[in-house]
Amino acid sequence: MTPGRPVPPPLGKPLVVSEETADPAPSAPAAAQGPPTLAAAYGATSAVSGLVPLTVARRAPKEDDVEIEIDFCGLCHSDVHATRGEWGAQSYPLVPGHEIVGRVRSVGSAVDDFAPGDLVGVGCLVDSCRECDSCLEGLEQYCERGNVGTYGVKDARNGDSITQGGYSTSVVVDRRFVLRVPDGLDPAAAAPLLCAGITTYSPLRYFDVEEGDVVGVVGLGGLGHMAVKIAKAMGAHVVVFTTSEAKFEAAIELGADDVILSKDPEAMEGANRSIDVIIDTVAAPHDLNPYFRTLRLNGALFQLGLPPTDMPPVSPGALIRRRLSYAGSLIGGIAETQEMLDFCAEHGVVSDVEVVTARQLNEAYDRMVAGDVKYRFVLDTKTLQPASEKADV
Ligand code: NAP
Ligand code: ZN
Ligand code: ZN
Repeated sequence: MTPGRPVPPPLGKPLVVSEETADPAPSAPAAAQGPPTLAAAYGATSAVSGLVPLTVARRAPKEDDVEIEIDFCGLCHSDVHATRGEWGAQSYPLVPGHEIVGRVRSVGSAVDDFAPGDLVGVGCLVDSCRECDSCLEGLEQYCERGNVGTYGVKDARNGDSITQGGYSTSVVVDRRFVLRVPDGLDPAAAAPLLCAGITTYSPLRYFDVEEGDVVGVVGLGGLGHMAVKIAKAMGAHVVVFTTSEAKFEAAIELGADDVILSKDPEAMEGANRSIDVIIDTVAAPHDLNPYFRTLRLNGALFQLGLPPTDMPPVSPGALIRRRLSYAGSLIGGIAETQEMLDFCAEHGVVSDVEVVTARQLNEAYDRMVAGDVKYRFVLDTKTLQPASEKADV
């Protein structure tokens, strides 16, 4: 790594759509389709409803679509923020879930890169404009016209319907946004790679982290534990900052080289000027200034957590005196997500998961908020109740 000099990652082929193969422009009406399939799901009907059984209508696959029978879907803290309305108004009913792994059930007539039976994944994106500079660079998450998230977002190419996520038995996604899950990855343990994995991989890769670099990880939850594993696989020395003394041993078992109790000012002082890059995954507002003091000259702190309310102010002096960068990062593009999956397969990296049933989802949300999960809950979609005869959404 060259500290302070972010380099673009050498990604796989970015998503480029030629005019002949491009779908109708987002403003065009959706192409005529067959009847939708009804899928069983769990979702929220209001910010205070908790998660309840729902039935979702999935569109009949269009020529570029892949119909996926979902096996597992990870539970991300973003699902909690979104379903509980913590990020502002939502469209309800809302089926969350963007860490999807399943098997291809059928493909549209123009799909030749996926076939029925393939093990595939879908992350946080199901579409983007496909033609702005960000999209053409393979950075669909930063689409200048707004990316189409896997749930809760208006899908202009599909009649302005609101996307519904992976706590469901099936989903239909354009082939360009479907990932290949490499052989050898356990499907349930691979599901969290589709958000927690790529969200932590992308900034580490952007900073070209390599052997000898010191990476700090703040918060040992779903994202945090993936950051530890991925940074270790990149050859870094990893320091975990946690508010939970009870996680010390577990952090070492995950591969961390050092663990620091962030509530202990003396321990924080001991880490002064020792770290190159910090990946901050905390889901609640917190003071970043003590972390800036742990960074070396030219160091950087990547904010990944998106708390519902503002954070305490950052001291400009802390940044200026060591030429530090305070940056943010949003998930990752499609090519980079595939690169991350292949990297994880090569290095044997998957998430530590606790598989839950549909009926355990509400309890799992409460446990996640309380920090009581090692380290990602994953829904087994076989436990969803059968779909009803009429769609709720
Ligand atoms: P998580 O599993 O709940 O982990 C969050 C961790 O933050 C906790 O395990 C805890 O670690 C730490 N924490 C400290 N104080 C906390 C508090 N008061 N409340 C909650 N957590 C606290 O969450 P996650 O799924 O990893 O997601 C983390 C954040 O990243 C969320 O805000 C989520 O929305 C956001 N996110 C962002 C992106 C992106 O693209 N930037 C993508 C996915 C998720 P310790 O016990 O070790 O202190
Ligand atoms: Zn997520
Ligand atoms: Zn775009």
